Amino acid sequence: MQREITPEEKKKIHVVCPVCNSDDYIFIPAMAISGTGKGLTSIFCPVDTICEHSFQIFVDNNGIVRGYETSDYELTFTPSEEPLEERIEVGDKGIIQIIKAIFGDEIFYKSLRSALNNNEIYCITEQEYLHDNLGPFFQKLFGIYCPEIVVCTMREYNRTVRKTVYSSKHKQAFLFNADLTAIIKQPEIFKERFRMERFTLEESLLKMVDFNKQSDEEIMQILHNTIVNIIELSVLLKNDVESKVIDNRKELERRLQKESGKKIKFDYASLDSILKNRFDVDVERIFLKVNEKIDKLKTLF
Ligand SMILES: [Zn+2]
Repeated sequence: MQREITPEEKKKIHVVCPVCNSDDYIFIPAMAISGTGKGLTSIFCPVDTICEHSFQIFVDNNGIVRGYETSDYELTFTPSEEPLEERIEVGDKGIIQIIKAIFGDEIFYKSLRSALNNNEIYCITEQEYLHDNLGPFFQKLFGIYCPEIVVCTMREYNRTVRKTVYSSKHKQAFLFNADLTAIIKQPEIFKERFRMERFTLEESLLKMVDFNKQSDEEIMQILHNTIVNIIELSVLLKNDVESKVIDNRKELERRLQKESGKKIKFDYASLDSILKNRFDVDVERIFLKVNEKIDKLKTLF
């Protein structure tokens, strides 16, 4: 005889994404799969359940996945009905404050870090303000170091952009819907829960300017100069690591602190992330190799 199932009882199901093969466990009420009386129960896994894909799974009475189905087309986000411009009081606020208010902290700081890392930024929005200003905003801040910035409507996203963003070439791309303040796709380094401590570099950048006293133009100029300095310091340190002038982490951290100045909190993690993403240089690995060589040399004597 079959044992009774309590409503609280949960079944653990191992799910593998049919698109990217990411896997994880989901928990669903045991009753949901045993009480249907059907052979298989279908369960919809929306975006972010397992990974950035959504799909349908078919589970048997024992909680084993017997099949998958993906959609060719998905109406993920419907544009909001009320005009979004009204939500934000533009007034005489500067462009940074406006964009930060539209994006919210998480998207705003992750966008800045993406740009520092030279990773593409894809913004879905129906807001004219962003279509007109977001590209030029990043251009002004990052100058020749600016990555690709794409601002598109939901319609454009569904028609063409979506395919591009999900191609392997754009693995590091940061994709979000600004109207819903929802992140859709982000590189691995961002996937941990958002914490401000991980963005001290960007935070200290904003602290360099005074939004009450300085003009928008002044602010953008100061930030642009500082960003260029940050990237150029990264290049300098990268060269010193590659030519083995710096051959250990301690020395690199010391140089970074010495040369980045007091005002800007250029921490080691941010430098590491810029070097990895923008220049494809893994400093820890270089240090390891240098040390291996030294160890080998030692054994010779
Ligand atoms: Zn997937």
